[in-house]
Amino acid sequence: MKQQKPNTIDEYIERFPEGVQKKLQQIRQIIQTAAPEATEKISYQIPTFYLNGNLVHFAAFKNHIGFYPTPSAMEQFKEALSLYKQGKGSVQFPIDEALPLLLISEMVQARVLENQQKVEQKKRRQLVPKSKNTEQQGVLKEKLILLGTGNAAVTKCYNTCFAIQKNETVFLVDTGGGNGILTQLEKAGIELDQIHEIFISHEHTDHMLGIIWLIRMISARMKNGFYSGTLNIYCHAELKQTILTIVKLTIPEKFVKMIGDRILFHPVTDGKSRKIMGYEVTFFDIRSTKAKQFGFLLKLESGKKLVFLGDEPYRDHEYVYADRADWLLHEAFCRYADREQFLPYEKDHTTVKEACETATALQAVNLILYHTEDKNLKKRKTLYQEEGRHYYQGNLYVPDDLTVFEL
Ligand SMILES: [Zn+2]
Repeated sequence: MKQQKPNTIDEYIERFPEGVQKKLQQIRQIIQTAAPEATEKISYQIPTFYLNGNLVHFAAFKNHIGFYPTPSAMEQFKEALSLYKQGKGSVQFPIDEALPLLLISEMVQARVLENQQKVEQKKRRQLVPKSKNTEQQGVLKEKLILLGTGNAAVTKCYNTCFAIQKNETVFLVDTGGGNGILTQLEKAGIELDQIHEIFISHEHTDHMLGIIWLIRMISARMKNGFYSGTLNIYCHAELKQTILTIVKLTIPEKFVKMIGDRILFHPVTDGKSRKIMGYEVTFFDIRSTKAKQFGFLLKLESGKKLVFLGDEPYRDHEYVYADRADWLLHEAFCRYADREQFLPYEKDHTTVKEACETATALQAVNLILYHTEDKNLKKRKTLYQEEGRHYYQGNLYVPDDLTVFEL
């Protein structure tokens, strides 16, 4: 006789022999304890806990209890789970062994947190007007978000990188030196599926290594169906090879396969323009003597000019791009007053003074300084502005990490 589909978890459990029922009740109880606010239901015909979306599922089979914490939790707990047989998004606990109650509890709690974060991110994104509406009303949101403002060796802020956000899409410029890029993006309320365009200026660790993490995380999302479309990476040809080498040495093969398929590299060359998020972006070689590096001129929707000079001082050949910039982004390793302490010139960097003199010569409207030391971060803004105003009368900004500019 064909069994009727269960409507409740009780009905589901009743159908099994007593020994199995005991296990099912045990796993049910541990989930209830770990997620007291979650509600029970049957989804995909198996017991399901729900809180801001499906949380976890479980089911009984002949030889095991199947537990479905979703691919993200499987990834997060993969070391502990490596002891068990696994399917996609599920793990099998043998019926004749004790259930790993602590592990189950931790996975449930991680899922509660994940769903909670999704809801909060959604709320945050709803605060930004939807692109359709803004087009209709002619209101466009263009923002510059400084994700990091420090030089290579900082420990109190993140390495220099930033995002240009247009409505809900994001153009990321450099990625800092590692996994911290994920933290900065999260703090800025930028989700990975908003990022489809990334430019890497040069090969130094403090600008480039974050891309390895982004490729890893985004390709995993692509595989799991949480990221649509392609990821476009812009950098010079040699840098592409460097990135590919590191990716191949450090990231699982299944993710590497996305490169060339949905992760696409686009070479930048001196003086060549590209359309990125509808912007005309002209890249130029900054002629670094240390490592090949590119800056760019980006024309905002208003026609205003945003100029990124990389992490080295302005050079005369950049005049055609940087002259009368509305937004000039220039490095300043430290104050001129502190040059003997930080030795900027030895590293092909300059100070607040020179950056401000350059901005004056170029008649820049706004000057943003970054790639600084971090020894006195709390007073950085005050001290730098104090020095800078002797050399530049425009708007001088010394942003902290996560400062947002309306462009
Ligand atoms: Zn740097």
